[in-house]
Amino acid sequence: SVLIHLFFFLSAGKNGVPVPENFRLEQSTIADTIQVGQVRVRTLYLSVDPYMRCRMNEDTGSDYLLPWQLAEVADGGGIGVVEESKHGNFAKGDFVTSFNWPWQTVAILDGSLLQKLVPQLVNGRLSYFLGAAGITGLTALLGIREKGHVAVGANQTMVVSGAAGACGSLAGQIGRLEGCSRVVGIAGTDEKCSILVQEMGFDAAINYKKGNVAEQLRELCPGGVDVYFDNVGGDISDTVISQMNQNSHIILCGQISQYNKDVPYPPPLPPDIEKIQKERNITRERFLVLNYMDKQEASVLQLCQWIQEGKLKVRETVVEGLANIGAAFQSMMNGGNIGKQIVSVSK
Ligand code: NAP
Repeated sequence: SVLIHLFFFLSAGKNGVPVPENFRLEQSTIADTIQVGQVRVRTLYLSVDPYMRCRMNEDTGSDYLLPWQLAEVADGGGIGVVEESKHGNFAKGDFVTSFNWPWQTVAILDGSLLQKLVPQLVNGRLSYFLGAAGITGLTALLGIREKGHVAVGANQTMVVSGAAGACGSLAGQIGRLEGCSRVVGIAGTDEKCSILVQEMGFDAAINYKKGNVAEQLRELCPGGVDVYFDNVGGDISDTVISQMNQNSHIILCGQISQYNKDVPYPPPLPPDIEKIQKERNITRERFLVLNYMDKQEASVLQLCQWIQEGKLKVRETVVEGLANIGAAFQSMMNGGNIGKQIVSVSK
């Protein structure tokens, strides 16, 4: 039998800040043989994502997320290579992915839960299927298409919060590709802001940890804000909403500034901001990418095409080793990443 590492989730807390000690590394064994319908995979890449914070509560606050159980292996988006297959769709050497990949170096999985990947679609950068050509890219693209009301020639200004993160960095670029005439990002460091402008084609970026965000936003968006891709919620979003135009649109992607608090999702706006939202007829509909999976295939092909054409610039922050996945999760929640946070488990 094979010796592998498992990652167990240890403890949670409704209002707590996640730490690497929420996870524990253990060694274990898996069966020597696989059953019909199963495949044995070696894990290559794992994804850590903000929604996992919700899975650390017994009550995840949403109907589509199951809590991680104490002393069970955690799971999330993952990519691996097939080492042995007794499932007709897969052969040794195939690259495969799943939303529920166990945090293990090697795993025996039901083939019906796996999707095959074509590395050529992402110029061989397999990990992109966890980011720009995966759920993150889909979230940016479908969020904009389903809730953004972006139109070519409409001279719209888009603001993106969490702009240097996985979703945000793509959302700004896609906003431009879909027709916005001005794109402004909000992110947590000067380095992130300069990457947004110099590498990703944002017109400007604001470091929300420096200076007065409202003033800078007013200067950088003189015509007001037409589309707001909101990844963070809280004070930053209140400031942006205050500067939104009549009949404008919020893409309610996420509210990461609220995830360590025990509040409902989406968190209600403060009364004065809600008044602005109502008076100006600003839409703020809940958006969940998983509700649009009928558009997954065509949308992934679109994202891959943009990546191949160089129209979508992709950044990743890669941490090596399963043992460091808890630290990678904590770092991402605290802004340590630029682009998608990836954990590289084996080569
Ligand atoms: P990410 O943006 O790559 O990483 C999280 C980033 O959030 C950090 O890098 C940090 O950047 C920022 N952040 C953390 N705490 C913050 C705070 N208090 N205020 C402002 N910014 C803060 O993560 P992601 O995977 O792309 O996810 C981004 C958002 O999209 C999350 O809210 C997530 O829940 C949401 N999402 C939604 C869907 C959907 O279907 N609706 C799907 C996927 C993701 P700074 O340095 O800028 O602070």
